Amino acid sequence: MQPFSYDALPMRVRFGEKALEQLPGELEELGVSRTVVLTTPREQAFGEQVDELLGPVGLGVYPHAAMHVPVSTADAACAYIAEVGADSVVCLGGGSTVGLGKAVALRTGLPIIAVPTTYAGSEMTPVWGLTEDGIKRTGRDRRVLPTSVIYDPTLSTGLPVEVSVTSGFNAIAHAVEGLYAPDASPIISLMAAEGVAHMLTALPAIVADPADLQARSDALYAAWLCGAVLGATTMGLHHKLCHILGGTFDLPHADTHSVVLPYVMAFNLSAAPAADDALVRATGTDSPATLVRELEQSLGIVGSLAELGMPESGIDEVIRQALAAPYSNPRQVTEADLRTLVTAAFTGSPIG
Ligand code: NAD
Repeated sequence: MQPFSYDALPMRVRFGEKALEQLPGELEELGVSRTVVLTTPREQAFGEQVDELLGPVGLGVYPHAAMHVPVSTADAACAYIAEVGADSVVCLGGGSTVGLGKAVALRTGLPIIAVPTTYAGSEMTPVWGLTEDGIKRTGRDRRVLPTSVIYDPTLSTGLPVEVSVTSGFNAIAHAVEGLYAPDASPIISLMAAEGVAHMLTALPAIVADPADLQARSDALYAAWLCGAVLGATTMGLHHKLCHILGGTFDLPHADTHSVVLPYVMAFNLSAAPAADDALVRATGTDSPATLVRELEQSLGIVGSLAELGMPESGIDEVIRQALAAPYSNPRQVTEADLRTLVTAAFTGSPIG
């Protein structure tokens, strides 16, 4: 076994159907008593139910979380939180809402408690992001790590099928890149393989019946594992490309990950035999990249960057940005490689 180093991240996880009911007890145990619930505008009514569940501890809902955490949104949230005198924040939603909570924690030092309702996995990472003038800055800081995470699969039964599926492949992307990360470790590889296997089983079942609680539990468990992999390792080409695509063309986060993932897998796995072995075992197929692509197609998600709204003229810009900033990757990437890969993802051509 190769030598490795592994940092365990300090947080409590409560997992299970109706785990949300444990939120008041969790806040009490943390010693906080004045809490604001963050949501996106779409989940405001749900946030109000949670605020009610908190009784006198709930100070209200701040329903303005938005994708990629605009700095102006973070400023406004911090001002609201200071005005009401909150001592803690509950993030109820997906990566956008957790992202807003992290921005608040970064500035105020307040503890955040995450109640994730998608499979993005941000709640398991010390990574924050803030966007201003079209540029997204990201960083790592232990202060933004949620103190506690409550995973309740009943909360995701209403997550639209399309968002569920793309979010699920977003989680799988974390696991894939964690498997060949320079700072991978045996424990992380176990989590990654387990996450991929559970997510791949769960997604078709969710498409067949979005209210299937067993499938929702499997997917949320997988999201936790894949998010923990993301939090513990350094991501490679896939996350680099998706960061560029999202930031430059404002493409939807999880859909972009879903489209790009099989192309990067096909490119990278030939240079990452241990990761490939783990994925072959986890997927039960000789070609994990092809399996991912075919499963995505059978589950009905968008198949190309062109369909997501990327202009063809943007291919050069993606290549330029990807060549400009270094990132870790198991396989060296030339300009010609990038052109082939990005063009294939743009047109949605078969995995070769
Ligand atoms: P999201 O949080 O924007 O949610 C997607 C949509 O689903 C939103 O419209 C939301 O309102 C809706 N939604 C969420 N839960 C729902 C539910 N239970 N029922 C119905 N609708 C629901 O999307 P996401 O993919 O979860 O997160 C994407 C963002 O997270 C991006 O900004 C990305 O950069 C960030 N992210 C950060 C990290 C990190 O480690 N920092 C990791 C992953 C993602």
